Amino acid sequence: MPRSHDPSLTYSDVVVWKNLMYDIDKKENLSSRSGDRDDLSTSKLLDDVNNPKAARFQPTVFTSWDQSDTLPTVLRYIVEPYVDWARRVVRTPTDVVFLTHILLYTSTSVPSAVRLFFHFTWTHGVFHWLMTSYYCGAFTIMLHNHIHNNGVLASNLAFVDRLWPYLLEPLMGHTWDSYYYHHVKHHHVENNGPGDLSSTIWFQRDDLLHLMYYIGRFLFFIWFELPLYFHRKGKRSLAIKCAISELGTYAFIYLAARCNLRATMFVFLIPLLQMRIGMMVGNWGQHALVDEEEPDSDFRSSITLIDVPVSIYDSPLHASESITPTSRQFTASSTSASHFADQRSLV
Ligand SMILES: [Zn+2]
Repeated sequence: MPRSHDPSLTYSDVVVWKNLMYDIDKKENLSSRSGDRDDLSTSKLLDDVNNPKAARFQPTVFTSWDQSDTLPTVLRYIVEPYVDWARRVVRTPTDVVFLTHILLYTSTSVPSAVRLFFHFTWTHGVFHWLMTSYYCGAFTIMLHNHIHNNGVLASNLAFVDRLWPYLLEPLMGHTWDSYYYHHVKHHHVENNGPGDLSSTIWFQRDDLLHLMYYIGRFLFFIWFELPLYFHRKGKRSLAIKCAISELGTYAFIYLAARCNLRATMFVFLIPLLQMRIGMMVGNWGQHALVDEEEPDSDFRSSITLIDVPVSIYDSPLHASESITPTSRQFTASSTSASHFADQRSLV
């Protein structure tokens, strides 16, 4: 039966998808040839696409379309000069897309938010919220890279690299530094196991009331529970820092609301509520099926989706993310397919 993939997948996604289809065909004896779709060739292809010295190298510039879909004139006079410059600005030449997104958000979300505070209209408020809803998934993926790799820009721009999350996080529904403290210092350490504050193993995962309790607990008590978690682990400094950053953001939003309540609702409060509910629903879905024999195994506590565009709410490569928390997860998920199978991971 002919198979087709989601048309919005990137080139790397398609390479991995073809490799997996090849594996299925081989298992069903539909294909006996080796070639550009076997594990070794796929791994080489993905390495080349990500290797700035390889002829096949192609930095990701946009997430919504590929360079090959761009008009030749636009490509030559706008995209290529931008890529030449941007490759020197980002830490790794593959990561031009991060600069694209930082520039996009600072040139649209920031002025739009400022304008709302000085001249609020309901129409603008709704459009600002829709724009934030469109942006916040990709922003969170970028922030995820930032917190795992301690930055995304070149070392001579370390100051800017430290600064932009403080400017953009509250606009995209995050509180200052909280994603780093919760995700890197707590969630990756506990791996959804019994000690994880966002563990799903205590809940009936097909029960709506349980889901509402799970979301509500995070929304209303994480400001207290996360510092308490670090305190119990003997990590006093982390406990203090994460309490200050979380409560500091609440105080900032409160002060903003004193200036302009309606603008604060659309610029900070609704995005915060939306992001937190989205992340909890995403985590619930990721860890809905947990092997009770090994609940904290990276492979057996989460699911891996292949034929979907990357989104923060489904984060399709969660298992490989736990193992390879970098932007090279596609290579990891492809080349370790047999390892996933050995570990009985759900793909
Ligand atoms: Zn991570």
